[in-house]
Amino acid sequence: MKPIALVTGASSGIGEAIARQIADHYQLIICGRRKARLLSLSKELHNETQTLIGSFDVRDQSAVSNFIDSLPDKWQNISVLINNAGNAHGMNYIHEGDIQDWDAMIDINIKGLLYISRAVIPKMIKKKHGHIINLGSIAGTDVYPKGNVYNASKFAVDALTKGMRMDLNKHGIKVSEIKPGLVETEFSKVRFKGNLKKAKKTYLGYNPLQAKDIAECVAFMLSRPQHVNIGDMIVLPLAQASSTLINRQQK
Ligand code: NAP
Repeated sequence: MKPIALVTGASSGIGEAIARQIADHYQLIICGRRKARLLSLSKELHNETQTLIGSFDVRDQSAVSNFIDSLPDKWQNISVLINNAGNAHGMNYIHEGDIQDWDAMIDINIKGLLYISRAVIPKMIKKKHGHIINLGSIAGTDVYPKGNVYNASKFAVDALTKGMRMDLNKHGIKVSEIKPGLVETEFSKVRFKGNLKKAKKTYLGYNPLQAKDIAECVAFMLSRPQHVNIGDMIVLPLAQASSTLINRQQK
């Protein structure tokens, strides 16, 4: 029987690519708000692995805990948690920031990750086994102008990763973080509230990472021997040297 991995944000981008990438080795609990997308991913993976869909908003703590607590018996034994759900909302100077955007980033990227982790980790502790991979970002090590609250949310993911690794050390649970640079997903479409012109501009003039590039790194982290824990991995497109230095003449 394959072990069970729970992937948040599996309805799009990096999370969806991770689910595809690891389907040959894991049964999957695929989560996100857009149920139709999760259903179509589940259908696509039908011949490779068993899937269970979790359609909830990670901001809703009772929805999160109800879902995890009422998992059917055969899905209780979660070995891998991929905390991927998250987005940037807006890009403004701090004094012009939209409060709703700030709330969304703090509630989804930080509190949502905490709610899922709080519900799943006790199950891992019980069996003294598990692997948590948090999706941080280069934005969580390297602040950029108008990134402010998104940067803060990813710095928080970095701190939480380190804290989890310490707190779970005696329980034999691996905790890893992956910090991508620019990945071409729906991320910019969400950040710029559906303005496709602005979203496309983010990826112009160079080859950005694709979701699969990150999914392959996650699969590598998961496939290491039991005594090896990759704590942290920064993955950038060739054209990107930092959050702000991007060579847009490089195709
Ligand atoms: P994406 O294509 O927009 O995917 C975001 C995923 O998060 C979707 O599946 C979305 O599902 C889920 N999500 C968002 N809000 C949610 C909520 N309130 N409740 C439940 N699920 C929610 O973006 P992506 O690039 O794959 O981003 C995935 C992760 O990578 C994020 O944590 C992001 O910060 C990080 N990251 C991205 C980049 C990049 O350049 N793309 C770089 C570094 C790090 P629903 O909308 O269906 O709920």
